[in-house]
Amino acid sequence: MEGADQKTTFNQFASDNYAGICPEAWQAMQAANTCFVPSYGDDLWTERACRILREVFETDCQVFFVFNGTAANSLALASLCRSYHSVICHELAHVETDECGAPEFFSNGTKLLHVNGPDGKFDLAEVERVITRRSDIHFPRPKVLSLTQATEVGTVYTPDEIRAASELAGRYGMRVHMDGARFANAVVSLDAAPADITWRAGVDVLCLGGAKNGMAVGEAVVFFDRDLAQEFDYRCKQAGQLASKMRFISAPWIGMLEEGTWLKNARHANNCAALLEQQLAGIAGVTIMYRRQANSVFVEMPEAAVKALRSAGWHFYSFIGSGGARFMCSWQTTERDVHQLADAVCMAIAHNT
Ligand SMILES: *Cc1c(COP(=O)(O)O)cnc(C)c1O
Repeated sequence: MEGADQKTTFNQFASDNYAGICPEAWQAMQAANTCFVPSYGDDLWTERACRILREVFETDCQVFFVFNGTAANSLALASLCRSYHSVICHELAHVETDECGAPEFFSNGTKLLHVNGPDGKFDLAEVERVITRRSDIHFPRPKVLSLTQATEVGTVYTPDEIRAASELAGRYGMRVHMDGARFANAVVSLDAAPADITWRAGVDVLCLGGAKNGMAVGEAVVFFDRDLAQEFDYRCKQAGQLASKMRFISAPWIGMLEEGTWLKNARHANNCAALLEQQLAGIAGVTIMYRRQANSVFVEMPEAAVKALRSAGWHFYSFIGSGGARFMCSWQTTERDVHQLADAVCMAIAHNT
């Protein structure tokens, strides 16, 4: 690794939030660093970022900027539910497995009910079974269907699948929440208009990810049904999610959205994952676990090889069980990184099986 720069000396495919801030977001933040400007979102950058989001989604949505995805999801869900309601999500959903109970906490007790389904996507028959298995007062009433786009295992819901999910939810008087921490990757993967895979497909609230797409910090909570956004500003403030110097949270959104950087970044990450998948699929002993549709590749390989890869200094997640590994690409991943990882996997398998 002699001569390698700072980035590549840290060999990682752990997460897209290991990446830095992309130049466009950085420059937009710098451009907002002018003089005195009103605080708490009462500024021109915040107004402009909201306006651009309305253009991107082709509708008069209500937008709020918060610091992270856990807050975005939790507060969005809390705004859709009362304490005696429940939210149905996939068993691998971030809101269920990785938010430390924040959705339940911020909604004062709303229960998450999880369902199974292949490829990280819930099975609608299962969802309906959970909705209908009880209707008595002793069970928390299902009120929201929450889907993750792209999913936690790097697959995407098609527009038809989203519509079907929304129709089912609608039939039972439920609302639809979308965790879009990697929404940009899904938009690119599906080559769909953002509106077609959100409000036109029945989604009520989208938590739109910024950090994993190339921003320093920040997610946008996008309400397509403005009635649901009532008093959401109070919720944000109470939860400690109202940035006083809001322009530095909102301005980077302008940098991400205005010239399509969010999609450029996502396309780059997805392409890197496609290349990685292609490389890894050709290695004997490696099995691709899920259909790669976004910016991650999940593989199964001998546990000894996983260990050897780690010992060789590679960082990645293996929370999917023994012998499983998740390789996540970002806007900053390079083709060289991909080839280096593929070579390292090759070596790890050759020397450990
Ligand atoms: C990363 C991620 C989030 C947000 O996580 P924070 O660390 O709270 O910003 C939400 N949903 C999914 C699916 C994620 O991968």
